[in-house]
Amino acid sequence: MMPLRRFAMHRPADLREAAEMLDHYGETGSLYAGGTELLLAMRHDLLRYEHLIDVKAVTGLDGIERRDGRLHIGAAATHRMIERSAVVRESLPVMAEMAANVANVRVRATGTLGGNLCFAEPHSDPATLLLALDGSARAQGKSGERTVAMDELLAGAYENSLGRDEVLTGVDVPLPGPSQRAAYLKFQVHERPLLGLALSLDLDDDGGEIRRARCAVGCVSPTPCRSTAAEGLIAGPAESVEQRLQEAGDTLADEAALVDDREGSAEYKRHLIGVLLRRAAKKCLDGQGARP
Ligand SMILES: Cc1cc2nc3c(=O)[nH]c(=O)nc-3n(C[C@H](O)[C@H](O)[C@H](O)COP(=O)(O)OP(=O)(O)OC[C@H]3O[C@@H](n4cnc5c(N)ncnc54)[C@H](O)[C@@H]3O)c2cc1C
Repeated sequence: MMPLRRFAMHRPADLREAAEMLDHYGETGSLYAGGTELLLAMRHDLLRYEHLIDVKAVTGLDGIERRDGRLHIGAAATHRMIERSAVVRESLPVMAEMAANVANVRVRATGTLGGNLCFAEPHSDPATLLLALDGSARAQGKSGERTVAMDELLAGAYENSLGRDEVLTGVDVPLPGPSQRAAYLKFQVHERPLLGLALSLDLDDDGGEIRRARCAVGCVSPTPCRSTAAEGLIAGPAESVEQRLQEAGDTLADEAALVDDREGSAEYKRHLIGVLLRRAAKKCLDGQGARP
């Protein structure tokens, strides 16, 4: 690993100043949050910046709150803050559970949700879960704030769709009703997950019917993949869902366009999708599934 090249660290007072700094420094500047990805890439000389703009200096960017029927998580909230937040645990336990299993405690303590999503490393846990939970992101640039759908934010491997002067300010997730359940499961051998699978179910009042499903698989394609066709197959009577899951898993695998690589063959990943989908459905329907 190379020593870090010299850079200047800037601490913007607010989002407007952060956007101005981004615009001003252009290609020579980058936002910086926990630095767990950025500094590593700079040490390997994969990225070179002369100016880092510390988003953690912006007051309130790590806030977590319920507002207007949604859970809002600020971009600078660390995985550890999300894991430990009473608001998240109470209103979206599946998110707290997922955050508790990101990386190791050192990365969780410094790495942020915003950094995870914006770096767009394909092996991201939050991105896959947020896609299944219908989360959206908010970005602010010089010309104002806008909402960005999760699949739009993640433009490709290591690529997000934010404009040059835009800062991700946070993520919003609809607060689930009492009939909703969700589960996130992953298979991991090394540091990062090899495959992540998120499932969210909306049940009728007595739990006998799956009215709607959302599912997404992550880590096996440049960005997490959701399949409305697989979701259509999962919806229906809860007691017979097991019989529909094989086809749903295969449909999700087809849509993810699996490839053979050093993490495993396409066939192996297809098998894992089937196993994790069955386990996730069981977790949701047994009631152990966190309300999303
Ligand atoms: C050893 C290790 C294991 C890991 N394991 C996992 C795992 O199991 N699951 C998982 O999901 N992830 C894993 N990760 C990834 C980890 O979650 C991320 O490294 C972390 O969340 C990135 O956040 P950060 O604040 O450190 O980002 P930084 O490194 O500070 O920034 C990353 C990128 O995001 C940009 N950025 C940061 N904040 C913003 C913002 N608000 N607006 C716009 N752009 C922004 C930066 O400009 C930079 O390009 C692992 C990482 C490591 C090093």
